[in-house]
Amino acid sequence: MKGQITKILSNLYFVTSDNKEYECHSRGRFRNDNITPVVGDYVIFDDKDNYILEIEPRLNNLDRPLVSNITQALIVTSVKSPNFSTNLLDKLLVVCECNKIKPVICFTKLDLLNKKETSEIKEYIKYYKKIGYKVLTNKNLFRLKKVFKNNTTVFTGQTGAGKSSLLNKLDKTLELETGEISKALGRGKHTTRHVELHSLFNGKVLDTPGFSDVDTSCYSKEQIRDAFIEFSKYNCPFKDCFHVKEKECTVKENVEKGNILKSRYENYIKFLNSK
Ligand code: ZN
Repeated sequence: MKGQITKILSNLYFVTSDNKEYECHSRGRFRNDNITPVVGDYVIFDDKDNYILEIEPRLNNLDRPLVSNITQALIVTSVKSPNFSTNLLDKLLVVCECNKIKPVICFTKLDLLNKKETSEIKEYIKYYKKIGYKVLTNKNLFRLKKVFKNNTTVFTGQTGAGKSSLLNKLDKTLELETGEISKALGRGKHTTRHVELHSLFNGKVLDTPGFSDVDTSCYSKEQIRDAFIEFSKYNCPFKDCFHVKEKECTVKENVEKGNILKSRYENYIKFLNSK
């Protein structure tokens, strides 16, 4: 049978298949690929002996938290208190693109903005939508609930953006373990905690926020460039152009013309230079 590992407790692997849970054992490392099963893995298992036989090839795997096959990230982005950070949002988008994770941007705290700030944020929303991203706000609960279907989703975004309150609004039975909560409970750094995938709206959601230490320096310059998905639309005539120095670079031209958001280009240059 095929299933997905949703939880690991010492040597016990909890595998769900067709909404049923099986407690399985593993043979340890798998001979051929020398890997150990992690939460998120799709596995072939024997449902009579409850043994994991095979791990399917992974779409991706993250180190912190240790999890595989994340298909979607809900980037919870506050627009005020903490202020909107284009840098962090673009960084998270790069991490998603480099790991084949579909990002969904969810803006929060829009009600704290004045008129001028609201129209500024609306311009950003328009731009991120234009280049192809799904952009929602925490008021779109109905639409938000739909994005989970058939996905394995991780919540991410800045501390204080409202990740846990958003998840609680979506489903009161779930508790997303966020930095804020851990602090409030006075939990120490050394508390080891397992990660777990929960079922939510016909999909799965990870109970721990992902990419807590965002770092783009592990990606190549090419990967960072290609993660800015709108650049390729401008058909830069220079082969392998990094859109930095070349005079007739069409990406630079379109930044000047205002077709590419200035903050996007500036963040791109920052990430490139941090290499
Ligand atoms: Zn160029």
